[in-house]
Amino acid sequence: MTDHPDPIDKAAALTDMYTEHCVAAARQGAKPEQVQNEDGSWPVTECIDCGVDLPQARIELGRVRCVECQHRLEQRNRLLYGR
Ligand SMILES: [Zn+2]
Repeated sequence: MTDHPDPIDKAAALTDMYTEHCVAAARQGAKPEQVQNEDGSWPVTECIDCGVDLPQARIELGRVRCVECQHRLEQRNRLLYGR
């Protein structure tokens, strides 16, 4: 036991916290935005931003935006949040 908090331990704890935060953020980005209905259909089959039909492959990834709108959204987020 010590009265002095170890700066190395503190740094390690901060690093862990930071890493976890980044992993969580990355996971958030890859998370499906919709889930398949029990009958096999999908709730969203058109881009929620521009209304274009989504390619089947994109729907199966659980995406709700076309590539262009997703790209635009990510660019805007990068501008707003710096990532
Ligand atoms: Zn779109």
